[in-house]
Amino acid sequence: MSSAAISDINQINFQNVYQLLYQKGPLTQQDICRLANISRPTATQYLRQLLQANKIYAGGKHKEAHGRPACLYCFNPNACISIGVEVMVNKVKIAAVNLLGEIEKRETIHLAFINSDSYFQHASSWIKLFMDSLDMPFENILGLTISFQGIVSRDNEHVSFSKLLTNAPFSKSDFSKYFDSPVSLVHDAEMGAVAEIWHYCQITNGIYLSLNPYLGSGLIVNRTVVHTPDLSSGAIEHMILHENGELCYCGKKGCADSYCSVNALERSAGKGIDALFDGIKSGLSEDKRVWENYLWELAALIDNVRMVLPGDVILGGLLSQYMCEEDTARLKSMVQQLSAFKDAPFDIYIGHYGSDASLVGSALMKISEYCQKEGLKA
Ligand SMILES: [Zn+2]
Repeated sequence: MSSAAISDINQINFQNVYQLLYQKGPLTQQDICRLANISRPTATQYLRQLLQANKIYAGGKHKEAHGRPACLYCFNPNACISIGVEVMVNKVKIAAVNLLGEIEKRETIHLAFINSDSYFQHASSWIKLFMDSLDMPFENILGLTISFQGIVSRDNEHVSFSKLLTNAPFSKSDFSKYFDSPVSLVHDAEMGAVAEIWHYCQITNGIYLSLNPYLGSGLIVNRTVVHTPDLSSGAIEHMILHENGELCYCGKKGCADSYCSVNALERSAGKGIDALFDGIKSGLSEDKRVWENYLWELAALIDNVRMVLPGDVILGGLLSQYMCEEDTARLKSMVQQLSAFKDAPFDIYIGHYGSDASLVGSALMKISEYCQKEGLKA
């Protein structure tokens, strides 16, 4: 066998050991030899390399039935972290996310978006302070991914359609000039879908609906969030639900946003969602009627989208935190009643990350790249 082939096998075996510790750790050296089918000296060599790179750590002892307790080796989720930032109309959220997709630290600042250098400078200073507070070597920060309520243009350099934030486009350099780490711009709802499929391994195809003050969406095909150069992951929120209906902020009439967003629900209820759900719990018939109507609108939208992309449904965002299994069961029954294909199976999930989905998903972009490069995930 050539030395190049031996080197390739070595590299594959080394990645296998790292992958085993990521997926099944903590493990003893004996476990690793057995699972990776490698010799004890080879395992010793790989473990030493992984320890030196701080990719794993020795964590405690495993009591053996016979003989001395064996050392346990653990995957180090904090070997690298990624920074996610979510820019919203009135605030900015930031989180440091580790290699397991867990939030290590997070903060929020109330800062109204203005398309001006003073805003970008102020927000960037705050982001830098947060990054400095992590006490993490620069090379272990995988990057900074910033999500916006807007579509990122084909060149990945500009936010070109963001009627919620500004009428004028702004560019990546408005932020990136303040940072040494690589900066990426992304669409917020698409990132919400990224976060939720990270958590829900059983979902292959489906739609993600971000039930926030404004409705957002993402399309999931073969466990990948669809990304198109000009229209992000689609814009289900601007599909027409009622011809000549309510005026949408995009300029059209009858868009789904005008019926399925949290703003639309609060308009119908004449009160905030806290008060609405208090009323529902107390049995107020008017609040129950408003909620029932809202679920019918959402069911109609889901049925429409499922005619193009049959699959599961993930409900994320602010409103998902108020919903329970009874609501998803009722919603599913409504979709089935409306649908021409009543027996086509699907499930409705409540998002795991709630209103933090876009924030976590933004950070996960760099984590996913790292995991793929290291052979940790397919
Ligand atoms: Zn619209």
